Amino acid sequence: MCKHILNAQVSIRSPCCRKWFDCAECHAETQKHPLMQSFDMTFVCKKCKKAFRKDTREFEDSDEYCPHCDNHFVLEAKTPKASLQVESEDVRVDARMLKDDRVQAEEQRTIFDVRDAADRLG
Ligand SMILES: [Zn+2]
Ligand SMILES: [Zn+2]
Ligand SMILES: [Zn+2]
Repeated sequence: MCKHILNAQVSIRSPCCRKWFDCAECHAETQKHPLMQSFDMTFVCKKCKKAFRKDTREFEDSDEYCPHCDNHFVLEAKTPKASLQVESEDVRVDARMLKDDRVQAEEQRTIFDVRDAADRLG
């Protein structure tokens, strides 16, 4: 679990330095080189702790689940963010989150944006 993606379900091994990261931001903060994009991604499920690989060129809906425990690991990421829009009309704003450092959930794709990466590389 990293500070960028609060609900990360997998760790991803970066193709460039072969270290494990929860998200691309973690890589950017700790490494001096840019993150290398690859079709062939290695993941470790945080739920069952097992590793698996995916080819992002052939990423389908069923690939959003851990092959070992069916953990849904591609999901809308919860990212911490200073709440600048307190006057938001969203009545579903979670009171817990407001109290908790005025953190507001922001929806965003996680997992190195695998689909985008595939588009870019393809
Ligand atoms: Zn790297
Ligand atoms: Zn991170
Ligand atoms: Zn799993």
